[in-house]
Amino acid sequence: MPPKPPTGVNSYVGRFAPSPTGSLHFGSLVAALGSCLEARQHGGRWLLRMEDVDQPRCSEAAAADILRALERLGFSWDGQIVVQSQRTAHYQQALELLKANNLAYACGCSRKEIGDSVIAIDGAARYPGTCRAGLPVGKFARAWRLKVADAETAFDDGVQGRVVQNLFRDVGDFVLSRADGYFAYQLAVVVDDAEQGITHVVRGADLLDSTPRQICLQHCLNLPMPNYMHLPVALNGRGEKLSKQTGAQPIDPQRPTQAIAAALDFLGQRPPPDLATASLADAWRWAREHWQSAMIPRCRGIRTEW
Ligand code: GLU
Repeated sequence: MPPKPPTGVNSYVGRFAPSPTGSLHFGSLVAALGSCLEARQHGGRWLLRMEDVDQPRCSEAAAADILRALERLGFSWDGQIVVQSQRTAHYQQALELLKANNLAYACGCSRKEIGDSVIAIDGAARYPGTCRAGLPVGKFARAWRLKVADAETAFDDGVQGRVVQNLFRDVGDFVLSRADGYFAYQLAVVVDDAEQGITHVVRGADLLDSTPRQICLQHCLNLPMPNYMHLPVALNGRGEKLSKQTGAQPIDPQRPTQAIAAALDFLGQRPPPDLATASLADAWRWAREHWQSAMIPRCRGIRTEW
């Protein structure tokens, strides 16, 4: 049986927040399973959020497909599913607050103008601050950016240890609302985690470098900071993160127990070899009884055959 939601009041609130750009693959299953088991072990709630803020890359069909796959894999979540594309008014409100506090500014630079002479920590171009002191003459507002301070942002990750970043040096003033009119993931995730009362974020280590940006936004918007735990991400044979772009295969819904057992193994839980052929209910029971976050490998990525 899937893990049952707890009864009574508990302060732990976790979540799984997939972007519906394609089917659930092994990489997203690892994040779903790790966040779910960690929440259930703490007697907490586990919420689901469809992160379709980047609408051109997302589809309702993919969202429905992910939900179907989660159900067949035996997951059960608490409460209503939050859908980001229905929440843009909240992101706008947060942006207005940042503007009112002089923390956000309009940017008129095209991607080409920003160039790529200085690369930020996530491999994108670091914004050189061209519009920070005001839009240059003849330019109009394309995007909105957060003014970041030249100071260290640090946090202790539950798996990856201490993370320290200087946002000004390592990232630059980052985008809150994009030139195409969509809100940026960084803003949406911070607004939603706070509104859903998320106390613990468990997700893939590909987002480790984004976390200082999110912590910075939490400070600017006076929102609480959750605890963070970044799981190793699943890499293909070429060392690329499994994703639709890198050709990750959807989870086979006919063999859910095998997938759950493989995800437990990936997360260092050492399931017995015969768990892969057990019933789905038995696999979940084993997982709930044996889950230990201390056994998760302390690295950012692991190659897998999946
Ligand atoms: N939507 C993001 C993804 O699918 C995850 C965001 C998060 O967990 O904060 O990669």
